[in-house]
This record gives sequence, C-alpha cells and structure tokens, in this order.
Amino acid sequence: MNLQELVRSLRPESPREFDETKPIAMWTEKDTSKGEIVDAFVLILRTRGCYWALNSGCTMCGYINDARMEPVSDENMEIQLEKALKRYRGEKVVKIFTSGSFLDPNEISPEMQVRIARAFKDAERFIVESLPEFVTEKILEPVVQDNLEIAIGLESASDEVLERNVNKSFRVKDYIRAAELMSEIGIALKTYLLLKPPFMTENEAIEDAERSVLFAAKYSSEISLNPINIQSHTLVNRLWKRGEYRPPWLWSVIEVIKATKPEIGDVRLVSWPTAGGLQRGAHNCGKCDKDVLKAIEEFSLTQDLSVFDGLSCSCIDEWKDVLQTGDSLGFEWRID
Ligand code: SF4
Ligand SMILES: [Zn+2]
Repeated sequence: MNLQELVRSLRPESPREFDETKPIAMWTEKDTSKGEIVDAFVLILRTRGCYWALNSGCTMCGYINDARMEPVSDENMEIQLEKALKRYRGEKVVKIFTSGSFLDPNEISPEMQVRIARAFKDAERFIVESLPEFVTEKILEPVVQDNLEIAIGLESASDEVLERNVNKSFRVKDYIRAAELMSEIGIALKTYLLLKPPFMTENEAIEDAERSVLFAAKYSSEISLNPINIQSHTLVNRLWKRGEYRPPWLWSVIEVIKATKPEIGDVRLVSWPTAGGLQRGAHNCGKCDKDVLKAIEEFSLTQDLSVFDGLSCSCIDEWKDVLQTGDSLGFEWRID
C-alpha cells in the first residue's frame, strides 16, 4: 500500500450529515494590521471541503471529517454569509476558511467568491486560504480587491518532504508559480509551514522548518509556523496511537523562530499552536507549557524576540537529549 492509499484508507466510512445553511464556526481573535494589534473575525464556511482530502489527503489533516462529495448550493452559501454578516462587528482583519480552498470553484462558486469578498471589502485585511492549484489568473481576476491576501499551505520547502511525509497535492514549483502570479497582481501571500510532519526526528523537523521559513520568506509577507496536532482519521493519529509519533516540543517552535526571524527582515513570523500544551498538540513537560505558549503568542503579535528571554524549565535538558538522540522518534517506519 502506498502513502496515498494508506491515508485514504483511514477516512471515516460514511460522511457526516451537515446543515448546509450554518457556517462551521465563527469567532473573534487577535491579529495584526498595519503594525497594530487588532480584532480579527474568523469565519469557517461549510463547503464540500478540500478536493485533495476527498481524493487522498495530507497525513496530518483532519479536514476529511468536514468534506463531502456534494457541493453546497449558492443559496445555502448565501444564508451562511448572511449569518456571518450578522455576527461581524467591523473587525479590521477578516479570515475566511473553508476546510479546503476558498478559490476552488467546486467549493465556492465564482459568483459567491466575489459576493463574499465584496461583503468584506472594507476590512483592512481579507485573508482566504487556497491550494496553489486554484491561484490562477482566471480565478483571481474577478475576486481581486485591495485588501485580499491569500494563505497557501506550503508545509515544507522540500519536495521530498511534501511527497513522503505530508502527501501533499502539489510540489514546490507550483507554490512558486502561484506566489509569483500573486506578486505580479499585488496580492499579499501568507505561507503556512508545518513543524514536524511524520517520519522525522525532532531535529530533522527543526531543520526542515528552518529551511522552509527562509525559503518562504522570499515570497511571503507573513509565515505561519504550524506545529502538527493530532486530528482524527489521519495517518498522524494512527502513528500517535501506536506510540510512533510525538507532536513537536514547544521548545522546538521557539528554536525555529529564534533561528529564522533575524534572517527574514520585515516578513512576519507567527505561530499559534493548535492544541498547544495538550498531548495532541505541541507540548513540553506540562509545567512550563502555559508560560511558553504565552511567549509564543506574544511573539506572534509583537515580533519581539526578547519575549523568550528568561524562559526556562528543567525539561529543556530532556528536549536537548531528544535532539541529540532522535529519541522517541528515531524509529524507522516505512510504507512498502
Ligand atoms: S492540508 Fe490542505 S490540502 Fe491537505 S488535505 Fe488538508 S485541506 Fe486539503
Ligand atoms: Zn517544562
């Protein structure tokens, strides 16, 4: 069984029933705009979900749990938008996620893409996510507006990692093509990178993330470093349950930030570890997690590396041992 087949075999047997008229979630959080910390409105729209998750999926991504074969109709998407607009309080940053690609016309029709974008045209930043496959002139042309930013999950700047560790639908050259097109049009790019896809030691994961940050900085206005968290029906979940995977240490997140931030100038580097401090997310020993997470959050908002000064805990030595020995991860795990 190859990696693509294995990931596919772990999907839920039957898709869940969804209410197509309700967004998956909405909330307000902090983000930045024009150098200030501001409120951000986050909206997760219910769509058919990621086409790649439906075909195979990435090793760490649980979006298959939100995916289904049938598209959501424009009428129901309009109702979701109306519900969102009722909650929207003019936050300066608006982030719209779909458990897939906003720009995939099979998830959101081109007409609704424009309708949603225009509804938030007065925000300072309007951020959507997309795979590079959908970042084309034809798709972008009607949607483009001054505040549009597109986030692409590159995950790693290594094709080998994309193929063997992440099972990504595209390769680095596809990201570069999309990034260059966006740069020509004047659309800001936010890049998501993974910290510690499966089948890597902690040390290899840090090195891969550092290389990837330096690479993505050439194209991005912002880079989000996303430590892996364990989501159901994923390959990472299966490995974790078998004791063959540990999410990254929070010390590793800081290590990558400290090593790369001084090299990337004005490019913003952020990290919001999902499930941070929990066994299913990036974590340390349990005693220091809260303080370390707080410092990472503060760094993400301020870009000030001094927030890490003085952070310490006895578990740093354990983490250093892991880096030296590849312990807890140094297993050989191959799919034939
Ligand atoms: S990580 Fe992105 S591309 Fe991969 S399955 Fe999830 S939504 Fe699709
Ligand atoms: Zn600790």
